[in-house]
Amino acid sequence: MGEGLQTEAHRAFRDEVRAFLATEWRPEMARNAAAVAAFRRRAVEQGYLYRGFPRALGGSEQPTDPLRLEIIRQEFAMARAPREVTGLGVSMVAPTLLEWGTEEQKQRFIPPTLAGEITWAQGYSEPGSGSDLASLVTKAELVDGEWVVNGHKIWTSNAFRADWFFVLARTEPAAPKHQGISYLLIQARQSGIEIKRIRQISGKADFCEVFFEDVRTPADLIVGERGAGWTVSRTTLKHERNMVGSAAGARELFDRLLRLAERRRIDGRPALEDPVLRQRLVTLEGFVESHIASNEHQLLAGARGEEPPLLGQLNKITSTNIADEVAQIAMDLMGEDLLRAADPDTRSDAKWQQQVLGSLGLAIAGGTSNIQRNVIAERGLGLPRDEGAAQ
Ligand SMILES: Cc1cc2nc3c(=O)[nH]c(=O)nc-3n(C[C@H](O)[C@H](O)[C@H](O)COP(=O)(O)OP(=O)(O)OC[C@H]3O[C@@H](n4cnc5c(N)ncnc54)[C@H](O)[C@@H]3O)c2cc1C
Repeated sequence: MGEGLQTEAHRAFRDEVRAFLATEWRPEMARNAAAVAAFRRRAVEQGYLYRGFPRALGGSEQPTDPLRLEIIRQEFAMARAPREVTGLGVSMVAPTLLEWGTEEQKQRFIPPTLAGEITWAQGYSEPGSGSDLASLVTKAELVDGEWVVNGHKIWTSNAFRADWFFVLARTEPAAPKHQGISYLLIQARQSGIEIKRIRQISGKADFCEVFFEDVRTPADLIVGERGAGWTVSRTTLKHERNMVGSAAGARELFDRLLRLAERRRIDGRPALEDPVLRQRLVTLEGFVESHIASNEHQLLAGARGEEPPLLGQLNKITSTNIADEVAQIAMDLMGEDLLRAADPDTRSDAKWQQQVLGSLGLAIAGGTSNIQRNVIAERGLGLPRDEGAAQ
């Protein structure tokens, strides 16, 4: 974030954050989960973490100020201090509950989610319902004060680690498809739930299939109105897009690529000196810089209460296009060494194997790039609706 935008108050704030980190954080604390949790609590008290959440729910309830946010990000990164708990509980579920949850749901789920005490998995996609999510057929019926859920979800990331699922299920079979869906919270460890992990090309098995057979959850664990789950799910997807579309890691990723280009060789010389590669890198850097600048403008607009339409879609595409080009260049630089990335000789480059194999995933998760393009074309540019997707 440009230094020029900072006021005297922001400079003082940076000193304050730095002083806090100097007294409260030492990198060796990272190995001790209790110490990390205690540090986070102190950082919340100071107003540095969970700034958008009320104090009563475990947040620090601060006014929107993108510059302060960026200062916190920079100073915490420099001190290698932990910020908010990562994962979709904090980035997707908690903000959705803040907007749509009942008071009881907020009290029950938001504080332990922010504290990292409960983890979540997203039960949206089904074998026949991905891009056309509203066609989902997992059903839930209200029986004696409980939802009874039957169906089959797929691509459920980290389901095997989750304490809770947020699930879209059809509760109003007679209603038009978008109006027949409800958003339910379901305890993950109970009989009737079977989880099968799916091995990926990267060797990991984060994805799962989840089978629900007469699974029960209390009637009041519905978020939003009955049949209004589609609207609630849009909020969660908006936060998912924002998470993927954030420019926060773009510079770091590009810098890592530059370091790789310094280490690798083309025709016996450092790859970074190769004119064709330099051309590709400069083009990519243009996208990285404009993505970062655009994110800063959006943060400032957000602070003024403005929310320009379709930015989430644009950010997500830009972000995943950058990740894709980084992966392509890394693949060209590493050649077949990428296959041996786990070998001791090339271990420092092992991360690139995961980067390359995983780069496509983000362009698919949370709505594919093609779907984002459709939305931009139809809602942004006013082009005719995609007939196939419109039913
Ligand atoms: C890394 C990752 C994590 C994920 N995590 C989860 C999770 O935790 N929970 C969950 O529920 N799901 C998750 N998913 C699933 C994800 O939401 C779906 O993969 C995604 O919505 C696409 O659905 P699909 O795979 O069925 O592909 P399809 O919908 O079958 O699409 C196949 C291809 O057709 C294109 N296409 C489809 N319809 C149109 C159209 N109308 N116009 C133009 N092109 C179209 C798509 O762009 C795509 O290229 C995850 C996926 C990935 C990759």
